Amino acid sequence: MRIPFNRPSLVGQELAYIQQAVENMHLSGDGPFTYRCHAWLEEQIGCPRALLTHSGTAALEMTALLADIQSGDEIIMPSFTFVSTANAFVLRGGVPVFVDIRPDTLCIDETLIEAAITPKTKAIVAVHYAGIGCEMDTICALARQHGLLVIEDAAQGICSWYKDRPLGSLGALAALSFHETKNVIAGEGGALLINEPRWIERAEILREKGTNRKAFFRGHVDKYSWVDIGSSYLPSEITAAFLWAQLENALTLTRQRIAVWQHYHDAFADLEQREYLRRPIVPPECQHNGHLYYLLLPDLHTRITVLEQLGKAGVNAVFHYVPLHSSPAGQRYGRAVGPLAQTNKASACLLRLPLWAGMQEQEVSFVIETVRAVVQSPRSKV
Ligand SMILES: *Cc1c(COP(=O)(O)O)cnc(C)c1O
Repeated sequence: MRIPFNRPSLVGQELAYIQQAVENMHLSGDGPFTYRCHAWLEEQIGCPRALLTHSGTAALEMTALLADIQSGDEIIMPSFTFVSTANAFVLRGGVPVFVDIRPDTLCIDETLIEAAITPKTKAIVAVHYAGIGCEMDTICALARQHGLLVIEDAAQGICSWYKDRPLGSLGALAALSFHETKNVIAGEGGALLINEPRWIERAEILREKGTNRKAFFRGHVDKYSWVDIGSSYLPSEITAAFLWAQLENALTLTRQRIAVWQHYHDAFADLEQREYLRRPIVPPECQHNGHLYYLLLPDLHTRITVLEQLGKAGVNAVFHYVPLHSSPAGQRYGRAVGPLAQTNKASACLLRLPLWAGMQEQEVSFVIETVRAVVQSPRSKV
């Protein structure tokens, strides 16, 4: 048996909806399927406005434009994240200021944020790693106190909750991703979530190449023209049609992922007790979405050995994130605060296991048995 790391999960209606989009003869963006997706996101997440984008990266770039990031502005974020979290702001001349992550959730350590704030700080980016929420009450209170913006990188966070609120509804702005590797997919896709209505009008303009096209079609202005900077951030109706099939089934996809996640979690409890590894920790105030299942091994050497042996046995496990603060571009454009010990440790020791919605029982069991054998074999011992 060979188990890939990820398999895109199709729900069934994707091709039928794409056919409908073609029959609608509206193939560019912002047609009927896009509006259905917007309405679903606004209702489920409880945000005043959701706008589809062609990627999570594009949604993050839009947050940097809306935040009006200028050369030298500082943005506090974890180093243990995907490059787009930082790139979106660097493109505007911003400086990512990297702080360490919590040892339990691997999300930004909220207790380290205040010490990283300077007169140049503009925003804090909360990355909800593995679909597990950051400590948002503390982060939002700090931001209020210092007049900073909170932006959620909720690329992995659809259908997750922090206390009684969905991820994506907690910051001023948030970004979702519908990349093939995420929980709900469109191939490439994303969404900008706007929680403060004052941003809505400008967001619509930025997304439509800096024109007031939207206001024109609503009849609010009598001609449409170039009114601001902007780009083309919207996906086509073909993409939105595919996404609509997935969103209609988002809760089922989430349940299926959580079932696999829980299966792994139960199966490795004794190995954690015997200190072969550490399992993910979900704080009681967070409800996760089963986005990814990871194991933390004792050290880099063990991680390398286990990865290699799993590969030989047919299980495609992978590590995650080379820390941004130690990447060439991170060193050129950003700045680290403190030694970032937890970031370096997670990067060295973390192993992600294959997980997708609808993964078969025997596939999950095969991964579990293989991991158990490899982790306990003398060669992977420290
Ligand atoms: C996937 C991801 C992104 C980028 O999303 P794309 O849709 O691939 O552009 C950004 N941040 C995080 C944390 C991600 O996991």
